[in-house]
Amino acid sequence: MYDCIVIGLGGMGSASLFELSSKGLDVLGIEQFEIGHDKGSSHGFSRIIRLAYYEGIEYVPLVLRAHARWLQLEKIYNKRLLNITGALDIGLENSETIIGSRKACEEFDLPHEIFRGNELSEKFPAYLLPEEYFSVFQKDGGFLVPESCINMYVNESINNGADVKQNCKVFNWESDGNIITVFTSDGNFKTKKLVFTAGAWTGIIENKMSNILTPERQVVSWFKPVSPENYNVDKFPVFNMEVPEGRYYGFPIHHYEGMKIGRYGHLEEKINPDLINREITKLDISTLRVPMDKYFQSTSTEPLFSQVCIFTNTPDSHFVLDYLPGNDNVFIASGFSGHGFKFASVIGELISDLIVDGGTEFDLGLFSLDRFKLNKTY
Ligand SMILES: Cc1cc2nc3c(=O)[nH]c(=O)nc-3n(C[C@H](O)[C@H](O)[C@H](O)COP(=O)(O)OP(=O)(O)OC[C@H]3O[C@@H](n4cnc5c(N)ncnc54)[C@H](O)[C@@H]3O)c2cc1C
Repeated sequence: MYDCIVIGLGGMGSASLFELSSKGLDVLGIEQFEIGHDKGSSHGFSRIIRLAYYEGIEYVPLVLRAHARWLQLEKIYNKRLLNITGALDIGLENSETIIGSRKACEEFDLPHEIFRGNELSEKFPAYLLPEEYFSVFQKDGGFLVPESCINMYVNESINNGADVKQNCKVFNWESDGNIITVFTSDGNFKTKKLVFTAGAWTGIIENKMSNILTPERQVVSWFKPVSPENYNVDKFPVFNMEVPEGRYYGFPIHHYEGMKIGRYGHLEEKINPDLINREITKLDISTLRVPMDKYFQSTSTEPLFSQVCIFTNTPDSHFVLDYLPGNDNVFIASGFSGHGFKFASVIGELISDLIVDGGTEFDLGLFSLDRFKLNKTY
């Protein structure tokens, strides 16, 4: 019998497995595909970490700890996980993004600089913003390489003594109140505690979650710049940009010879993760092309490469970090609504604190399941 089983070894599950095994627990991590696969939410070689969290200042203590933990892990394991490029929040002065980002900087005394319109181009020439736009630059922001983070976490978990099963699908689970049995394609496993980090599949395995978690198809594309020197990591901070065409995010040249761009929510297509369309359409590309022409120095018309990914949205876009009602030995970490990866390091830590010590220093009120009525239709 295990002390704890973790279902799903993507961003959150691999971090949880690592932190639990680091504390000496006898743990099993189960992944339905191969470790580091590209069918869930944690692939594509880059994930933004920005500190001035416009979505709510409750996130700032978490993101500060996450940032510190990523740097610590880099040092301990001698692996490059986090590329510091600086991060930009861009929008009109009275936009949700700029108001929220400035508030977070002021309340937490975060180092930042504010640029107006094309002042930004003097420092970062690839950005060509209209005069009325504001940019909040946070020098400590940047991007994580999700595949490197997950591989590091799983390898170090195994070094800590964890069992890992890949290409093993969890079908179901049951609890007698004390002991939990997990039914999988590789047989049944018993455990005292269970952690669900199954991303877009969480609502499929645990029906109580199905109405509050909505998987959504996303597409990102890499466009080749005409002047690549202006899109390098030292000249092109990652960005989160609120414009009339939508909320866009993007990265400097890394992994491929192009800058990467995505639109939050993309075409707002609700999907079943097992049946998602992974073909790229003309509409996918044109949706990502529009801001390239309007707000940036020239890039190729056609992308070098495009990729499908999945958001798992909650009705209010805040995470779910809570025990499953009626099961105080089953913890759910899901609904990361397109902005979770940067937090994986702190989420792994806080889950291990909850499982081992029964508490965490962080206030998880915003992420409780109480805010939803389970099984209500949204
Ligand atoms: C295009 C895109 C861009 C993003 N950009 C950012 C960003 O810039 N910054 C940021 O912070 N966040 C970003 N996000 C969000 C972030 O990537 C996600 O919030 C995060 O990766 C979610 O991690 P997860 O562990 O919940 O899901 P996943 O990493 O998908 O992990 C879930 C795992 O569970 C496994 N699983 C599911 N069901 C079963 C089963 N029955 N049996 C066994 N295993 C199972 C899956 O195979 C999967 O590996 C982005 C997401 C996308 C799609």
